[in-house]
Amino acid sequence: MLVDFGGKEALIISKILLNTPNEDLTDERIAELSTVKLNIVRKILYILNENKLTEFQRVRDKRSGWYIYYWKETFSNLTNLLSERKDAVAEKLDIRMKYEGDNFFFLCNNGCAGRYIFIDAMDLNFNCPNCDGGILGEERNTNKVDFLKKTIIKIRNE
Ligand SMILES: [Zn+2]
Repeated sequence: MLVDFGGKEALIISKILLNTPNEDLTDERIAELSTVKLNIVRKILYILNENKLTEFQRVRDKRSGWYIYYWKETFSNLTNLLSERKDAVAEKLDIRMKYEGDNFFFLCNNGCAGRYIFIDAMDLNFNCPNCDGGILGEERNTNKVDFLKKTIIKIRNE
């Protein structure tokens, strides 16, 4: 999951925010409408707010002196949020792809998990440090590079 907004309760609260746009929605009112506990309602509203998916207006109650928070959704920001996350994922894969493309990798012929770039394999004299008698042989990683390239294109075009 890209962002954990708090599961089932977050869905219920999101629906209330969406379906009652013109009402003055306080945390208490949302708790009432959703039957979700007030402290959980507040927690979810703040998580959504941190992700720019809610906005609040703070008004001081004249009688009690306490602050009242009126909430509304800004779910139109979700598109931006998702596209930022997508860019970040694509960027990471791009770094990985370049690393894969710029290096020769060596694998143990015993099939253990060891994988080394050329300079490290050379330092090891192409002997696997994990298993007795294992020899490090060059891996053809062009499939890996191709797969990363295709995945990056797919993510960026989504
Ligand atoms: Zn090995």
